[in-house]
Amino acid sequence: MKLLLVVAAALVDADNRVLIAQRPEGKSLAGLWEFPGGKIDAGERPEQALIRELQEELGISVKAACLAPLTFASHGYPDFHLLMPLYVCRRWEGHIAAREGQTLKWVAATKLRDYSMPPADEPLIPALVELLA
Ligand code: C5P
Repeated sequence: MKLLLVVAAALVDADNRVLIAQRPEGKSLAGLWEFPGGKIDAGERPEQALIRELQEELGISVKAACLAPLTFASHGYPDFHLLMPLYVCRRWEGHIAAREGQTLKWVAATKLRDYSMPPADEPLIPALVELLA
């Protein structure tokens, strides 16, 4: 079974809300809401990959020191197994913009359950609810 390494961020604003992004039409799992992030390329550290993805997807600059590891997703999809660490980030530079056609939403952690998420992302919610309670 192929192993896919993805890294994701819970960006948290001053009101303790978390940023989620809706996967656009044409991508796998289109319409589902996810924590921003993406694939870790060969030779990349997870933090490096996340910093690159947040720049590409949202146009923001994040420092490695501002990424706090929170938890880890491990989910078996039909064609691959996904491993995905989740980092919490409360500080970034730049204005958040949807650079890849995704819809963005700031949501209280306790309201994340109202949004359909990929099965890998859903198990990450309780750790966020606990952290931001
Ligand atoms: O975003 P991208 O399509 O590159 O991600 C590859 C795969 O990883 C997706 O098809 C999806 O199955 C999974 N994924 C996920 N949760 C995320 C990001 C990606 O389950 N937050």
